[in-house]
This record gives sequence, structure tokens and C-alpha cells, in this order.
Amino acid sequence: MPLFDQPSFDGHESVMFCHDAASGLRAIIAVHSTRLGPAAGGCRMWAYAREADALNDALRLSRGMTYKSAIAGLPLGGGKAVILGDARTAKSPALLRAFGRCVNRLGGAYYTAEDVGTNCDDMRQIAEETAFVAGLTDGAHASGDPSPVTARGVYLGMELAVARALGRPTLRDTTVAIQGLGNVGYRLAQMLNEAGARLIVSDVNAAAVKRARADLGATAVDADAIYDQPVDVFAPCALGAVLSPETIPRLRAKVVAGGANNQLADEACGAALAKRGILYAPDYVINGGGIINVAGEILGTGTPDWVERKLQALMQTLAGILDTARESGRPSHQVADRMVEERLATPRAA
Ligand code: NAD
Repeated sequence: MPLFDQPSFDGHESVMFCHDAASGLRAIIAVHSTRLGPAAGGCRMWAYAREADALNDALRLSRGMTYKSAIAGLPLGGGKAVILGDARTAKSPALLRAFGRCVNRLGGAYYTAEDVGTNCDDMRQIAEETAFVAGLTDGAHASGDPSPVTARGVYLGMELAVARALGRPTLRDTTVAIQGLGNVGYRLAQMLNEAGARLIVSDVNAAAVKRARADLGATAVDADAIYDQPVDVFAPCALGAVLSPETIPRLRAKVVAGGANNQLADEACGAALAKRGILYAPDYVINGGGIINVAGEILGTGTPDWVERKLQALMQTLAGILDTARESGRPSHQVADRMVEERLATPRAA
């Protein structure tokens, strides 16, 4: 399978293919950039239909992490790991430890943490083989599950976007369609419910939907119907590439603000949203709370105060991006990308 010719290859510094026969581990670790510091990014475990899909995911997600850390002002680069396999059936302590040895071989160029399909307990097992792991529940500056901070950032960013697009000071009576009720999506739903928002939700996991209906009074719709709902905000909180030429014309929301990574299927989709008058809060900006939480552990600076200050600063950055987009008529994702590219181009301190 060609690597350098992949459309999602973007000058990545290294891509490591990991295999461990004894545990059945097959994983890919992509380090996009260490320009601003060691690469950091979660480890996703997913039953990819094809190996090429796993490589594409690792390449896209690791690049996204470079952008995410840079826009959050963190001295970290971008990396991501994917383990090929079903997290519910193929995960074992031996497999996680084998993955930890692979991370260790990179000698600190890459720090791993939780992502879709992995959790704090998995990080504990990975930590038996490497120190280059965060999102732990024990130890100095242990930061635990990053998703509550991610969800809080998405909530704050949604407030900013709704204020700009709809002129509302709060999210009370705002109708939000949430796609995906996992760690981030469910917590976001809880916060929105407490704020008096109305919820329309979808998830392929029927238990999560049932809980949101019972506990949060949410209205449930089929997975594909979530795009057609007459809502104020669409919040993608499942997987990537959901904003596509097929889905964008169907959206009836005025704002897209959600936690998922890589929401745009491609560059042109950001412009298509802007053309339709939909305000898009760029994914890697609004969902940066998790990497801030993880960074506190990696850098040894993490306290709740430090995390909150960094999160508030990120929200100021998001506000600036949305304002610049409105004033310049440029799509918001392009404004954010340009800010990151300027940061990456700044000469390194001696
Ligand atoms: P999760 O695995 O806990 O939740 C994902 C949810 O999406 C699950 O409930 C799953 O059943 C559901 N889902 C899958 N396919 C779906 C579909 N087609 N329609 C509706 N629902 C579907 O993952 P998470 O940690 O909540 O992360 C969600 C997204 O946010 C991912 O894109 C992740 O990369 C991103 N993200 C997470 C964090 C974090 O701190 N956890 C940080 C930044 C970005």
C-alpha cells in the first residue's frame, strides 16, 4: 500500500507499523509533527473494514493533533495511534502491553492517551511498558479521562457560536441535534439539558439513546435522520467526515459545533458550510479541551486551575476565529488553519 502517495499524507515525520504475533496486535502510529514539542494524541481502537482505512485515519488524525495543540498554544506536536480490531472483543492486557512497547520504541517522540475504543484502564496497562502515556488516573499530575474537559469546551464553544449566529446570550431553548452519545456526546447532552436546551439525539448504540430519552428528555431519531432535523445546532460527536457533499445540503441548523475530530470530509466542505450560511466552529479548536487536560499531565503543569485557564484562552481564540471569519468572509476553518500555519512557521527558539 503506498504511503507517500496517500492523499492524507502531509509530510508526516514518521509512520510506524506495529505487529505482535503473540497478542495479535496490529497498529499504526503516525507522528505528523514534533515541530512544537513531542507529538501527542490518543490511541483509537476500531474494527476498520480495510487496512487502508486505518492508515488514512492515523494520518488524518495525527495531522489534526498538530493543529489542535498549536491552536491551543501547547508546546506539543501531533501524533495518533490506531489499533486495528474491535475494542469490545479483541482487546487484551497482552495486546495493550505490546502496544505500550511500540510507543516506547519511539523514545518520547509520541505520547499516547485515550480515544474512541480505549479508556483509563487501558492506559494503566500501556503504562506498564512505557512512560510516554497520559490520561492515567494515578501518579503525578494524572489527568484521567479527558472527555469531561472536551465536553465542557464544546459546550462553551457552542455558546460562543450561538451568540454570534443567533444573537442568544445562553443556550436556553436552543435546539441541538447531537450525533453520538459516547463519552463526549453524553456529557455534552447533560450540560445542555441543565442549561435548558432541547435535545434531538442519535446513536447506533440503543442503550445510550434509551438513557438520554429517560434521563434527559431527549427526542431520539434514526442515525441517518439526524442530518435532517429542524434544529439550531448540529453537534457531531461520533466519528469523522460527517460533513460531506451528501449531508451539508440536508442540514437545517445555523451552527455546527461538536466534539468529533475531522468533521469535514474534505477542505471544500468548510466552504460549502459557509456558503450555506452555517457557522462552523472548527473541530480541532472547539474540541481542544481534552488535549489541554492531557497536556497538563505530559508537561507536569496540570492543575484544575491551569486547565481552566488554558480552556478559557482557547475559547477566546475560537471567538477571534469566528469574528475574523465573519469580517473577512472567509470560511472559519481556513481562518483557523492559517493561524496554525503561521504558528508552525515561526522560527524555533534557540
Ligand atoms: P465514544 O466512543 O465514547 O463515543 C462515540 C459514540 O458515537 C458512541 O456512543 C457510538 O455508538 C456513537 N456512534 C458511532 N457511529 C455512530 C453513528 N453513525 N451515528 C451516531 N452515533 C454513532 O467516543 P468519544 O470519546 O465520545 O469521542 C467522540 C468523538 O470526539 C470522536 O470523534 C473523538 O475522536 C472526538 N474527541 C474525543 C475527545 C475525548 O476527550 N474523548 C477529545 C477530542 C475529540
